[in-house]
Amino acid sequence: MSTIRALLRNTVLPAAEARTLLAHLLAHYFQLPKSALISRDEMLLSSDFLTTWQALEKRRMNGEPIAYLIGKRPFHQIELMVNAAVLIPRPETELLVDLALQEMVQQRQQNPASTLRILDLGTGSGAIALAIASTFKDLPGSANPPQIMATDVSPEAIRVAKLNAAYLKQDQSIEFIVSNWYQALPQPQWTATFDLILCNPPYIHAEDDHLQQGDLRFEPITALSDGKDGLSCLRAIIADAPLFLRPQGFIAVEHGYDQLSSVLEMMAQAGLQEVRSYTDLAGIPRVVSARKAI
Ligand code: GLN
Repeated sequence: MSTIRALLRNTVLPAAEARTLLAHLLAHYFQLPKSALISRDEMLLSSDFLTTWQALEKRRMNGEPIAYLIGKRPFHQIELMVNAAVLIPRPETELLVDLALQEMVQQRQQNPASTLRILDLGTGSGAIALAIASTFKDLPGSANPPQIMATDVSPEAIRVAKLNAAYLKQDQSIEFIVSNWYQALPQPQWTATFDLILCNPPYIHAEDDHLQQGDLRFEPITALSDGKDGLSCLRAIIADAPLFLRPQGFIAVEHGYDQLSSVLEMMAQAGLQEVRSYTDLAGIPRVVSARKAI
Protein backbone atom coordinates (compact mmCIF):
# COMPACT_ATOMS: atom_id res chain seq x y z
CA MET A 1 0.00 0.00 0.00
CA SER A 2 1.05 3.54 -0.63
CA THR A 3 -0.48 7.00 -0.51
CA ILE A 4 -0.75 9.61 -3.25
CA ARG A 5 1.74 11.73 -1.39
CA ALA A 6 4.30 8.93 -1.03
CA LEU A 7 3.91 7.98 -4.65
CA LEU A 8 4.56 11.56 -5.81
CA ARG A 9 7.52 11.86 -3.46
CA ASN A 10 9.14 8.64 -4.64
CA THR A 11 8.56 8.82 -8.37
CA VAL A 12 11.50 8.95 -10.76
CA LEU A 13 9.54 11.25 -13.08
CA PRO A 14 9.71 15.06 -13.10
CA ALA A 15 7.11 16.36 -10.63
CA ALA A 16 4.80 17.99 -13.20
CA GLU A 17 4.75 14.87 -15.37
CA ALA A 18 4.06 12.61 -12.40
CA ARG A 19 1.15 14.82 -11.35
CA THR A 20 -0.36 14.80 -14.84
CA LEU A 21 -0.13 11.02 -15.11
CA LEU A 22 -1.40 10.37 -11.60
CA ALA A 23 -4.30 12.79 -12.02
CA HIS A 24 -5.21 10.89 -15.18
CA LEU A 25 -5.27 7.55 -13.33
CA LEU A 26 -7.24 8.97 -10.39
CA ALA A 27 -9.82 10.39 -12.79
CA HIS A 28 -10.00 7.15 -14.72
CA TYR A 29 -10.33 4.77 -11.75
CA PHE A 30 -12.05 6.90 -9.14
CA GLN A 31 -13.54 9.85 -11.08
CA LEU A 32 -11.52 12.16 -8.86
CA PRO A 33 -10.62 15.73 -9.92
CA LYS A 34 -7.02 16.86 -10.21
CA SER A 35 -7.29 18.62 -6.85
CA ALA A 36 -7.36 15.16 -5.22
CA LEU A 37 -3.58 15.10 -5.65
CA ILE A 38 -3.53 17.56 -2.75
CA SER A 39 -6.87 17.21 -0.99
CA ARG A 40 -6.74 13.39 -0.86
CA ASP A 41 -2.99 12.97 -0.59
CA GLU A 42 -3.35 10.50 2.31
CA MET A 43 -5.59 8.24 0.22
CA LEU A 44 -4.39 4.65 0.24
CA LEU A 45 -3.81 3.10 -3.16
CA SER A 46 -4.28 -0.60 -3.80
CA SER A 47 -1.50 -2.81 -5.12
CA ASP A 48 -3.42 -3.14 -8.40
CA PHE A 49 -3.41 0.62 -8.74
CA LEU A 50 0.31 0.73 -7.96
CA THR A 51 1.04 -1.89 -10.61
CA THR A 52 -0.82 0.22 -13.17
CA TRP A 53 1.04 3.31 -12.03
CA GLN A 54 4.42 1.62 -12.30
CA ALA A 55 3.65 0.42 -15.83
CA LEU A 56 2.74 3.97 -16.85
CA GLU A 57 5.80 5.39 -15.12
CA LYS A 58 7.99 2.91 -17.00
CA ARG A 59 6.48 3.77 -20.37
CA ARG A 60 7.13 7.45 -19.71
CA MET A 61 10.71 6.65 -18.65
CA ASN A 62 11.13 4.93 -22.03
CA GLY A 63 10.15 8.20 -23.69
CA GLU A 64 6.50 7.71 -24.63
CA PRO A 65 4.90 11.16 -24.79
CA ILE A 66 2.60 12.12 -21.92
CA ALA A 67 -0.11 13.04 -24.45
CA TYR A 68 -0.19 9.47 -25.81
CA LEU A 69 -0.15 7.96 -22.31
CA ILE A 70 -3.19 9.94 -21.22
CA GLY A 71 -4.74 10.11 -24.72
CA LYS A 72 -5.26 13.85 -24.87
CA ARG A 73 -3.57 17.24 -25.23
CA PRO A 74 -4.86 20.78 -24.73
CA PHE A 75 -4.49 22.97 -27.81
CA HIS A 76 -5.55 26.62 -28.20
CA GLN A 77 -8.94 26.72 -26.46
CA ILE A 78 -9.85 23.06 -26.89
CA GLU A 79 -8.67 19.62 -25.86
CA LEU A 80 -7.93 16.96 -28.45
CA MET A 81 -7.87 13.20 -28.21
CA VAL A 82 -4.58 11.90 -29.59
CA ASN A 83 -3.00 8.54 -30.26
CA ALA A 84 0.11 7.31 -32.05
CA ALA A 85 -1.59 7.82 -35.44
CA VAL A 86 -1.41 11.61 -35.11
CA LEU A 87 1.13 14.31 -34.36
CA ILE A 88 0.75 15.78 -30.88
CA PRO A 89 -0.44 19.37 -31.38
CA ARG A 90 2.27 21.90 -30.47
CA PRO A 91 1.92 25.32 -28.83
CA GLU A 92 3.71 26.87 -31.87
CA THR A 93 0.78 25.89 -34.05
CA GLU A 94 -1.56 28.04 -31.96
CA LEU A 95 0.12 30.97 -33.70
CA LEU A 96 -1.22 29.71 -37.04
CA VAL A 97 -4.70 29.39 -35.52
CA ASP A 98 -4.64 32.93 -34.10
CA LEU A 99 -3.48 34.35 -37.42
CA ALA A 100 -6.24 32.51 -39.24
CA LEU A 101 -8.88 33.76 -36.80
CA GLN A 102 -7.65 37.33 -37.19
CA GLU A 103 -7.81 37.01 -40.97
CA MET A 104 -11.28 35.47 -40.79
CA VAL A 105 -12.60 38.37 -38.70
CA GLN A 106 -11.13 40.82 -41.23
CA GLN A 107 -12.55 39.01 -44.23
CA ARG A 108 -15.95 38.87 -42.57
CA GLN A 109 -15.88 42.62 -41.94
CA GLN A 110 -15.19 43.18 -45.63
CA ASN A 111 -17.92 40.84 -46.74
CA PRO A 112 -20.36 40.15 -43.87
CA ALA A 113 -22.83 38.05 -45.85
CA SER A 114 -20.41 35.50 -47.25
CA THR A 115 -19.55 32.12 -45.74
CA LEU A 116 -15.82 31.66 -45.30
CA ARG A 117 -14.36 28.57 -46.93
CA ILE A 118 -11.27 27.19 -45.26
CA LEU A 119 -8.92 24.36 -46.16
CA ASP A 120 -6.74 22.70 -43.48
CA LEU A 121 -4.19 20.47 -45.21
CA GLY A 122 -2.69 17.61 -43.17
CA THR A 123 -5.08 18.06 -40.28
CA GLY A 124 -3.80 15.15 -38.13
CA SER A 125 -5.90 15.15 -34.95
CA GLY A 126 -7.96 17.96 -36.49
CA ALA A 127 -6.20 20.54 -34.32
CA ILE A 128 -6.21 23.59 -36.62
CA ALA A 129 -9.65 23.01 -38.14
CA LEU A 130 -11.26 22.26 -34.78
CA ALA A 131 -9.62 25.13 -32.90
CA ILE A 132 -10.90 27.51 -35.58
CA ALA A 133 -14.40 26.04 -35.71
CA SER A 134 -14.68 26.07 -31.91
CA THR A 135 -13.43 29.63 -31.45
CA PHE A 136 -14.77 31.55 -34.43
CA LYS A 137 -18.40 31.26 -33.39
CA ASP A 138 -17.62 33.14 -30.16
CA LEU A 139 -15.91 36.07 -31.86
CA PRO A 140 -17.90 39.29 -32.27
CA GLY A 141 -20.06 39.54 -35.37
CA SER A 142 -20.20 35.87 -36.21
CA ALA A 143 -23.20 35.11 -38.37
CA ASN A 144 -22.44 32.25 -40.73
CA PRO A 145 -20.18 29.55 -39.41
CA PRO A 146 -17.27 28.89 -41.77
CA GLN A 147 -17.24 25.87 -44.08
CA ILE A 148 -14.08 23.97 -43.27
CA MET A 149 -12.52 21.16 -45.22
CA ALA A 150 -9.74 19.22 -43.52
CA THR A 151 -7.57 16.66 -45.29
CA ASP A 152 -5.02 14.09 -44.25
CA VAL A 153 -3.26 11.39 -46.23
CA SER A 154 -3.66 8.99 -43.30
CA PRO A 155 -7.09 7.34 -42.92
CA GLU A 156 -6.19 6.64 -39.28
CA ALA A 157 -5.59 10.35 -38.66
CA ILE A 158 -8.91 11.22 -40.30
CA ARG A 159 -10.60 8.72 -37.98
CA VAL A 160 -9.08 10.47 -34.92
CA ALA A 161 -9.98 13.92 -36.31
CA LYS A 162 -13.60 12.84 -36.82
CA LEU A 163 -13.79 11.52 -33.25
CA ASN A 164 -12.50 14.86 -32.02
CA ALA A 165 -15.04 16.71 -34.15
CA ALA A 166 -17.87 14.63 -32.72
CA TYR A 167 -16.59 15.12 -29.17
CA LEU A 168 -16.34 18.91 -29.69
CA LYS A 169 -19.74 18.98 -31.43
CA GLN A 170 -18.18 20.33 -34.61
CA ASP A 171 -18.99 17.45 -36.94
CA GLN A 172 -21.46 19.62 -38.87
CA SER A 173 -18.96 22.37 -39.58
CA ILE A 174 -16.02 20.36 -40.92
CA GLU A 175 -15.73 17.93 -43.79
CA PHE A 176 -12.85 15.49 -43.31
CA ILE A 177 -11.39 13.76 -46.33
CA VAL A 178 -8.48 11.42 -46.96
CA SER A 179 -6.24 13.24 -49.42
CA ASN A 180 -2.59 13.70 -50.24
CA TRP A 181 -2.55 17.53 -50.00
CA TYR A 182 -4.87 18.80 -52.76
CA GLN A 183 -5.15 15.51 -54.63
CA ALA A 184 -8.73 14.65 -53.68
CA LEU A 185 -9.85 18.18 -54.62
CA PRO A 186 -9.81 17.94 -58.40
CA GLN A 187 -9.68 20.91 -60.73
CA PRO A 188 -11.72 22.62 -62.03
CA GLN A 189 -14.36 21.89 -59.42
CA TRP A 190 -12.30 23.39 -56.62
CA THR A 191 -10.55 26.12 -58.59
CA ALA A 192 -10.29 29.43 -56.74
CA THR A 193 -12.58 28.20 -53.97
CA PHE A 194 -10.94 28.88 -50.65
CA ASP A 195 -10.73 32.08 -48.61
CA LEU A 196 -8.02 30.58 -46.41
CA ILE A 197 -5.56 27.70 -46.77
CA LEU A 198 -3.76 26.59 -43.61
CA CYS A 199 -1.13 23.93 -43.17
CA ASN A 200 1.32 22.55 -40.64
CA PRO A 201 3.16 20.11 -42.90
CA PRO A 202 5.90 17.60 -42.01
CA TYR A 203 8.93 19.87 -42.32
CA ILE A 204 11.73 18.20 -40.36
CA HIS A 205 14.75 17.22 -42.48
CA ALA A 206 15.04 13.41 -42.76
CA GLU A 207 18.57 13.55 -41.31
CA ASP A 208 17.67 15.78 -38.35
CA ASP A 209 18.90 14.08 -35.15
CA HIS A 210 15.80 15.21 -33.25
CA LEU A 211 13.77 12.53 -35.02
CA GLN A 212 15.80 9.93 -33.12
CA GLN A 213 15.37 11.67 -29.75
CA GLY A 214 12.79 11.98 -26.98
CA ASP A 215 9.07 12.11 -27.63
CA LEU A 216 9.42 12.50 -31.41
CA ARG A 217 10.43 8.82 -31.75
CA PHE A 218 6.86 7.84 -30.87
CA GLU A 219 5.07 10.15 -33.28
CA PRO A 220 4.13 9.15 -36.85
CA ILE A 221 7.25 9.85 -38.88
CA THR A 222 5.21 10.94 -41.90
CA ALA A 223 3.66 13.72 -39.81
CA LEU A 224 7.10 15.01 -38.83
CA SER A 225 9.30 14.59 -41.89
CA ASP A 226 8.91 14.37 -45.66
CA GLY A 227 11.76 11.85 -45.74
CA LYS A 228 13.78 14.39 -47.75
CA ASP A 229 15.06 17.91 -47.18
CA GLY A 230 12.04 18.95 -45.07
CA LEU A 231 10.88 21.39 -47.75
CA SER A 232 9.15 19.15 -50.29
CA CYS A 233 5.67 19.30 -48.71
CA LEU A 234 5.92 23.06 -48.22
CA ARG A 235 6.88 23.33 -51.92
CA ALA A 236 3.89 21.27 -53.07
CA ILE A 237 1.42 23.13 -50.86
CA ILE A 238 2.62 26.63 -51.72
CA ALA A 239 3.07 25.98 -55.46
CA ASP A 240 -0.57 24.88 -55.89
CA ALA A 241 -2.14 27.32 -53.42
CA PRO A 242 -2.90 29.95 -56.12
CA LEU A 243 -5.02 27.39 -57.98
CA PHE A 244 -7.23 26.78 -54.96
CA LEU A 245 -7.35 30.25 -53.38
CA ARG A 246 -9.90 32.79 -54.49
CA PRO A 247 -8.49 36.20 -55.50
CA GLN A 248 -7.26 37.94 -52.30
CA GLY A 249 -7.40 34.58 -50.52
CA PHE A 250 -4.96 34.00 -47.65
CA ILE A 251 -2.48 31.21 -47.00
CA ALA A 252 -0.50 30.54 -43.81
CA VAL A 253 1.97 27.70 -43.31
CA GLU A 254 4.10 26.58 -40.39
CA HIS A 255 7.77 25.84 -41.09
CA GLY A 256 11.03 24.78 -39.43
CA TYR A 257 13.45 27.02 -37.53
CA ASP A 258 15.86 27.37 -40.48
CA GLN A 259 13.39 27.41 -43.36
CA LEU A 260 12.22 31.03 -43.44
CA SER A 261 14.20 32.15 -46.49
CA SER A 262 13.21 29.03 -48.47
CA VAL A 263 9.53 29.55 -47.66
CA LEU A 264 9.68 33.26 -48.56
CA GLU A 265 11.16 32.28 -51.91
CA MET A 266 8.46 29.66 -52.54
CA MET A 267 5.73 32.23 -51.82
CA ALA A 268 7.31 34.73 -54.21
CA GLN A 269 7.76 32.08 -56.90
CA ALA A 270 4.09 31.15 -56.63
CA GLY A 271 3.26 34.81 -57.32
CA LEU A 272 1.77 35.34 -53.86
CA GLN A 273 1.77 38.83 -52.35
CA GLU A 274 1.83 40.50 -48.92
CA VAL A 275 4.24 37.82 -47.74
CA ARG A 276 4.77 38.06 -43.97
CA SER A 277 6.74 36.14 -41.39
CA TYR A 278 5.81 35.56 -37.74
CA THR A 279 7.90 34.31 -34.83
CA ASP A 280 6.70 31.84 -32.22
CA LEU A 281 6.84 32.37 -28.45
CA ALA A 282 10.46 31.22 -28.44
CA GLY A 283 11.31 34.02 -30.92
CA ILE A 284 11.88 31.58 -33.81
CA PRO A 285 10.43 32.35 -37.28
CA ARG A 286 7.63 29.78 -37.48
CA VAL A 287 4.81 30.88 -39.78
CA VAL A 288 4.66 32.62 -43.16
CA SER A 289 1.47 34.06 -44.60
CA ALA A 290 0.67 35.49 -48.02
CA ARG A 291 -2.20 36.54 -50.23
CA LYS A 292 -3.22 35.74 -53.76
CA ALA A 293 -3.37 38.72 -56.12
CA ILE A 294 -6.70 40.05 -57.38
N1 GLN B 1 7.23 21.51 -34.68
C1 GLN B 1 7.29 20.08 -34.68
C2 GLN B 1 8.55 19.67 -33.94
O1 GLN B 1 9.44 19.95 -33.83
C3 GLN B 1 7.34 19.50 -36.05
C4 GLN B 1 6.00 19.37 -36.57
C5 GLN B 1 5.94 19.33 -38.03
O2 GLN B 1 6.80 18.77 -38.70
N2 GLN B 1 4.96 19.91 -38.56
O3 GLN B 1 8.76 19.00 -33.26
